Amino acid sequence: MHEISQIPEAMVPMMNIFVFILGTCIGSFLNVCIWRLPRGESLVSPPSHCPKCNYLIQWYDNIPLLSWLALGGKCRKCKTGISPRYFLVELMTGYLFFLVWMKVMMTGQPASAAVPYFCIVALCIVTIFVDTEHRIIPNEATYSAMVAGLLFSVFWPELWLPHRKWIVPEWIISFMFSFGSMAVCILFMAAVSIFGKILFKKEAMGWGDVKYIGAVAALIGVPACFFTLLFGSLTGSLYGIFLMVFRKKKLRSAFPLGPFLAAGTLLWVFFGEIIGESYLELSRQITLKLGGGW
Ligand SMILES: [Zn+2]
Repeated sequence: MHEISQIPEAMVPMMNIFVFILGTCIGSFLNVCIWRLPRGESLVSPPSHCPKCNYLIQWYDNIPLLSWLALGGKCRKCKTGISPRYFLVELMTGYLFFLVWMKVMMTGQPASAAVPYFCIVALCIVTIFVDTEHRIIPNEATYSAMVAGLLFSVFWPELWLPHRKWIVPEWIISFMFSFGSMAVCILFMAAVSIFGKILFKKEAMGWGDVKYIGAVAALIGVPACFFTLLFGSLTGSLYGIFLMVFRKKKLRSAFPLGPFLAAGTLLWVFFGEIIGESYLELSRQITLKLGGGW
């Protein structure tokens, strides 16, 4: 039986629904980011409007999931189709927020632990949709995720220091963990990017990817980045080979790496412990085998 942390039991079903609705609202905001950030537009003005007929979108046409369904995916005035992406992003964000929340509750972590994961989900969704279409990961997304990660480490040191007691104020140590993780990952990724460019004479790892990994590090630490990079470059390479063999694309034809990295990060969020333990177990077995052979 898992411990449900800190939330009174009667509140749990209501909290679950609240988190899903919160996720769909954040998803609605992410839709604005996904459209406007790569186009260099402001997130606040002008207010949301139909790109075809300029009809100002009223509040009742802006209710996550429901409005898109009620309008049948069309503008109320000129009936131009509204991309199903709007519905999909809201649903994905709501569902992933809900899953993150369930995981945090089931593993008995403090409720604050869900917040960095919510940020990771938002960052991954923006990365997946913007990078696929525009081949960039917006600075606004990565920089704000980095700042959020550093701030969380100050306000919730327990995210970085779950068990140990320290003599120095805890927030200083946890800030150093968050900042240090970010710095190490950015330096490492920058080196990979620069050497990759020298070696392959082509940008294999863009600066957007470097900053993306830095943001993940500031929010949830180095192991998550390690797995993200491993998973992202592996599945990305497989996709590259697929393009070459089946689509007759040239070797090294550019395709965005961001969606593969984001998929890796999301896998880590939900299965990080299992992945980490299997890795440790595997290295233990190998060490034993090697030791026995000597
Ligand atoms: Zn319209």
